[in-house]
Amino acid sequence: MIEDPGVLNNGESHDRALMPDLIHRLVQKSQKAKAFGHCPYIHFLVRAALLDWDGMIFLGCNVENACYSLGICTERTAIQTAASKGSKYFAAIAVASDVEEEFTTPCRACQQVIRKFGSEWWIVLTMPSGSYIIKTLGDLLPFSFGPVKLAMK
Ligand code: ZN
Repeated sequence: MIEDPGVLNNGESHDRALMPDLIHRLVQKSQKAKAFGHCPYIHFLVRAALLDWDGMIFLGCNVENACYSLGICTERTAIQTAASKGSKYFAAIAVASDVEEEFTTPCRACQQVIRKFGSEWWIVLTMPSGSYIIKTLGDLLPFSFGPVKLAMK
């Protein structure tokens, strides 16, 4: 799902674009993406809202499968949706779940997929209350394997 085209692509610097009001809006969108989840087995619904540098927001949800290993996490559905629309430069991703006691982080597989698109963009971890913290992939996965490693010989 694509929403809010043109939020960032207005000539302003990227630093300006990531003001708290924009992050707050991204957090809200991640929480509202709940309607799209498909998790009939473990009932652990996770949602994401992915913001690219053109200001497009792509929503993601986890999609379970009876063959568990074929399920896919919300972060990857958001990224794959964005990539399928030609987007590959991301500013932030907000991740939401119904867990109230702690922030839900992307799993290691999703962190590796996030790494493919850079290590310094923001991962916004949220709680149902609307509180959030901002991390980078470098914070969560400091010794990650990325495209630059393939260039080393
Ligand atoms: Zn994952």
